[in-house]
Amino acid sequence: MRIRWLYWLGNAFYPERCPYCNRNIEPEEIACDDCIKEVLAKHKAIKSGVGGFRCISSFVYGGKIRRILLRIKYHEKTQFIAQLAELLAMDILMIYRNYNFDIITAVPMHWIDELDREYNQSVILAKKLGELTGIPYLKTLEKIKRTEKQHNLNYAKRKTNLIGAFQVIDPERIKGKRILVIDDILTSGNTLAVCCKTLNRAKPELICCATLATAKGKYPPQAII
Ligand SMILES: [Zn+2]
Repeated sequence: MRIRWLYWLGNAFYPERCPYCNRNIEPEEIACDDCIKEVLAKHKAIKSGVGGFRCISSFVYGGKIRRILLRIKYHEKTQFIAQLAELLAMDILMIYRNYNFDIITAVPMHWIDELDREYNQSVILAKKLGELTGIPYLKTLEKIKRTEKQHNLNYAKRKTNLIGAFQVIDPERIKGKRILVIDDILTSGNTLAVCCKTLNRAKPELICCATLATAKGKYPPQAII
């Protein structure tokens, strides 16, 4: 009985909240019913391309999806990655069903920035997707140059900002492999494109990308492969 009261008290002071709208929810719920319905209705596999490599995303970046991705990125709410990862895992298993990836990997952060944020949300996402799809996770890239935040730059500067920023950790582990590169949001696509081109120098057999959301329409369209 005492435990139940403590539980009730704890819950009254620190209630679970819906990650999308901040409404109070039951502890066993992952989001409120309205938001679950809305998010599921907006889920749609979107095919695109980055730097000549195939990419898929599960959502258009905006509204509630934008809000939750910002909370994940800047407010340590990484527990919310799991529920969105399930939808992206479904898209990966459907659209890339014959691709037989050997490695799932993520866009890296510079170690100073990662130390500052204490996590890299794309790595957490890639590891979760690895669990859900059965593709082994491997850290393949490191960011060796600190760069300006891409969203602070105009489109032209975004293209040059990342030159020489990434490096393959062990090219021998990439050669001849089929690789799926994960990032949280596809905006201009330059970060993912530079990561793919860097990996490509180690001669993998295939590189594809997947992101939770895409800011489709905000930037010049890229070829859909
Ligand atoms: Zn809600």
